[in-house]
Amino acid sequence: MAKIGITTTIPAEIVFAAGHTPVDLNNILISHPEAVRLTEAAEEAGYPRNICGWIKGLYSVVVQGGDIDTVIAVTQGDCSNTHALMETYELAGVRTIPFAYPFDRDYDLLKLQMEKLMASLGTGWDAVNAAKRRLDGVRAKVAEIDRLTWREGTVSGWHNHLYQVSCSDFNGDVDVFEQEADAFLAAAGSAAEYSEDVRLGFIGVPPILTDLYEYVERMGARIVYNEVQRQFAMPFATDDIVEQYRLYTYPYGVFGRIEDIRREIERRNIDGIIHYVQSFCFRQIEDMIFREKLDVPILTVEGDKPGKVDARTRLRLDSFLEMLR
Ligand code: SF4
Repeated sequence: MAKIGITTTIPAEIVFAAGHTPVDLNNILISHPEAVRLTEAAEEAGYPRNICGWIKGLYSVVVQGGDIDTVIAVTQGDCSNTHALMETYELAGVRTIPFAYPFDRDYDLLKLQMEKLMASLGTGWDAVNAAKRRLDGVRAKVAEIDRLTWREGTVSGWHNHLYQVSCSDFNGDVDVFEQEADAFLAAAGSAAEYSEDVRLGFIGVPPILTDLYEYVERMGARIVYNEVQRQFAMPFATDDIVEQYRLYTYPYGVFGRIEDIRREIERRNIDGIIHYVQSFCFRQIEDMIFREKLDVPILTVEGDKPGKVDARTRLRLDSFLEMLR
């Protein structure tokens, strides 16, 4: 059993079916006690300053970590910087396996990509479908955590984020993750309701800022929708794993995401949106599309390196919440 790094959500069912452990490198970075040092180490190794902090951190997590010698890198549907990230991994002696989401959501091409990944890892459809059935049970529990967040109001925005974002790799151990989700659900089922006066949605890539959810709640609001994290958790009712990864909106362009966001704004009774953007990320351009297509107020928040929300951003969040009240 090998630890296989992943640069973003890929069909984790295939990695589990092959008997390996997926490791979402983003989750390793953001929970690392020296996350800032890791991004700076990539600059010292030669990465340009004006490259996204996630990419720099992902480089160092693998090259300095020492226990991951294979990385599945998403070459289409996530980030163009991943191409050069793969090349620098290879330079450092790390094996890379490319995975591409077809831009037009083509079923056959996606199936082919999945079969190529299966061949690379040495597994087949029977094992993958069995892994899907196992993960579907856990995904349903995470979907219940999400429902308790927006419908019952007994889950914080942070825990909503944490459980859903962790579905990219199930923290590498499905059984342990499921036990943790069970214990959390038992406590959340009888927890006191939050009494926020502003309900927010969070769209965009997961934040590199560590206390955004906590700060928003301290100011009397709560994030009741995490767009991309919910997509990682895949609350889609389908028995077909190829279809499951077609319904997943994040890799396929912004307009499919907007349909999903609009539906959830309505369903969750959301007053305003925080659009999180990462410094030096091409996805910042999509901010202009969200502003034109979404009918609720939007605050764009930018993060650079791992760390707390800075004073200027706190002030902007305060003003946004005041405006919504
Ligand atoms: S935040 Fe943007 S630039 Fe950074 S890894 Fe994600 S998609 Fe790429």
